[in-house]
Amino acid sequence: MRTTVSKALVDVKMEPFWLDRPDRPETLPPLATARKADLLVVGGGFTGLWAAIQARQAHPDWTVVLLEKSSVASGASGRPGGVVSTSVMHGLSNAARIFPKDIAVLETLGQENMRGFMQTIADNDIDCHAEWGGELNVAIEDSQIAALREEHELHLKYGHNAVFLDGDALAGQIGSPRYRAGVWTKDIAGTVHPALLAWGLKRLAVELGVEIHETTPLKTLEETAGRMHATTPNGSVVADRVLLATNAFMAGHRHIKRRIVPVRDRVLATEPLSDAQMAAIGWSNRQGIYDMRTQMNYMRLTKDNRIIFGGRLAYAFNGDTSPAVDRAHATYAPLASAFFDTFPQLEGLSFSHAWSGAIDLSTRMAVHFQRYHGNKVVYAGGYSGFGISASRFGARVALDILNGSTLPESRLEFATKLPNMVPPEPFRWLGAQITMNALDTADARGGWRLPWLRFVSALGFPLH
Ligand SMILES: Cc1cc2nc3c(=O)[nH]c(=O)nc-3n(C[C@H](O)[C@H](O)[C@H](O)COP(=O)(O)OP(=O)(O)OC[C@H]3O[C@@H](n4cnc5c(N)ncnc54)[C@H](O)[C@@H]3O)c2cc1C
Repeated sequence: MRTTVSKALVDVKMEPFWLDRPDRPETLPPLATARKADLLVVGGGFTGLWAAIQARQAHPDWTVVLLEKSSVASGASGRPGGVVSTSVMHGLSNAARIFPKDIAVLETLGQENMRGFMQTIADNDIDCHAEWGGELNVAIEDSQIAALREEHELHLKYGHNAVFLDGDALAGQIGSPRYRAGVWTKDIAGTVHPALLAWGLKRLAVELGVEIHETTPLKTLEETAGRMHATTPNGSVVADRVLLATNAFMAGHRHIKRRIVPVRDRVLATEPLSDAQMAAIGWSNRQGIYDMRTQMNYMRLTKDNRIIFGGRLAYAFNGDTSPAVDRAHATYAPLASAFFDTFPQLEGLSFSHAWSGAIDLSTRMAVHFQRYHGNKVVYAGGYSGFGISASRFGARVALDILNGSTLPESRLEFATKLPNMVPPEPFRWLGAQITMNALDTADARGGWRLPWLRFVSALGFPLH
């Protein structure tokens, strides 16, 4: 470990920066009775919260019960980078890859979704430090510039206010010697404080009459006489419809994991930057930034001018979402090293927090809907690390499927077709180890790694 990196990690707290706050809301009491519900939502992340809110808004007479095994935002929703995007399909290029025929309508749906997302925040005074500085995608090699130009063209074609930046224009936005060129998509994208957003949505859900029970894991889910019967350690719910909003945790149905790989991603938060350090990197428009490294890094500023810097996927045998290795300082050294390569002018800066979070990787890289028990149970997930705003859309479509698919979008391919299946263990673990190794070292060492990544891409994961 180089000295700058080891020093920077000495005092790091092993918990998500977003959740380390004194104003964390009280945990709501667990379910301790037998309930009946029109809708049971399992999972208290963004998907579950948006579903419960939209269900009560559309059907004020419905009883909506939400069960969360730990506390709201304890899963991916309290752990992301916090970059919010318009696309509901993991970006325009991914939409063009998976559903080229529907790209225009998916774009429109994404824009409508983002407007609804922003409106909900504004109308309900959810102070989640939202900043709408847009997104910046940057190339770190000259060989990536052609792909970046194509991405720019695609954004212009679909009406985005996007600019291509290089040379001084790029340096005027962000000071990194690694960056060769960038596309800045300026409209309706930016950053949020994800935990404040989730806690604000929790408050809104309760105000709308949703019954939330935290520290309440779903234990069993069975169909009896046409209704779903759910049990928890001290209670039960009989429901007409069930939304499984359990992301990479995959509770509720044993088949979910056939199409979802629970990988983890690592994140670092720095101490707040001084005025001189801020001046050294520029970044006055405070965009959310993604780079085009094979093991992609993403970054953004917080309200108190920390840099949140994420990336570095990993997979543990059987999809363990919280292995001990994610609490070891050394695990974060490669990410810290990538940080100082990106911003060498910040040498001497320390990291305050380090954490990992579970990502529901699917070959589609975007939400899909698994239907069980004749559409009485729907799993909505597979966002693959791009779900803060897309979860509102995923929840809306999942509710519609549970309610008979009346919306035109519920009949589009993204709602009716499933992503590819992924091989089971031990092939999954073995393939993941080779792939993660290739991802970590492909940029520096090339060789067999690039053909391997092309092979994995051919299975459906767009890794290269
Ligand atoms: C490190 C990281 C960085 C990311 N960065 C970004 C980003 O910058 N931008 C972006 O758009 N997206 C990002 N994402 C993705 C985004 O965070 C997720 O797509 C989104 O939060 C998914 O929300 P969810 O509600 O589907 O899942 P989750 O928030 O994971 O919620 C699922 C919930 O289900 C609960 N649960 C599981 N099993 C049970 C059970 N048996 N009973 C009851 N409850 C159960 C869990 O406790 C959990 O709270 C990132 C994700 C990670 C991990």
